[in-house]
Amino acid sequence: MNRGLLIIVSGPSGVGKGTVVKELMKDKSLNLSYSISMTTRKPRNGEVDGRDYFFVSKEGFERKIEHDELLEFAKFVNNYYGTPKAYVEQMLDSGHNILLEIETNGARQVMEKMKGNNVVSIFLLPPSLYELESRIRNRRTETEEVIKERLEKGSKELQLKSLYEYNVVNDVPELAAQRIAEIIKDRMTK
Ligand code: 5GP
Repeated sequence: MNRGLLIIVSGPSGVGKGTVVKELMKDKSLNLSYSISMTTRKPRNGEVDGRDYFFVSKEGFERKIEHDELLEFAKFVNNYYGTPKAYVEQMLDSGHNILLEIETNGARQVMEKMKGNNVVSIFLLPPSLYELESRIRNRRTETEEVIKERLEKGSKELQLKSLYEYNVVNDVPELAAQRIAEIIKDRMTK
């Protein structure tokens, strides 16, 4: 059986990765499984443990690092985020395409570790920096201090776009998802 594709969707906080990925997951022809990340961040209203993230303590997360159970991990604005390794391997081995929605440090780790034709790296861009700021602000989930840190990190992250095979502008989430679906379909036939 052919190994599945490991699809990385990255980009700055607020670019709308989550919305685009949700849209993408609706397309059953893409044979996509979503990798649920682990984080030490507190759940936002409406977020469910085991669906949006595995919410764990700092100690719990550090144990996963020690036992080498994460494919990648990063600290993002004072919290840990990481991808559990076993699920990704299991999905790839059984021929499923797996989708990782992660920030840029983690994306770089995965690109370095998992070289080869079955890795597809996609960077989502905001239509403008102004748009990025209003998206983060309109979410109204973070304090001013955290918003500032996320924006600062976001403008640095934007400079990393050339490390990715594909850059997709998220002007309208449905359209961005369609473009990504075309990329995946194209790579599935190669
Ligand atoms: P949020 O707190 O808004 O859910 O996520 C903050 C950032 O962490 C986002 O850019 C998100 O894509 C990223 N992120 C989510 N899960 C992971 C992960 O498993 N690994 C890494 N490196 N970043 C992640």
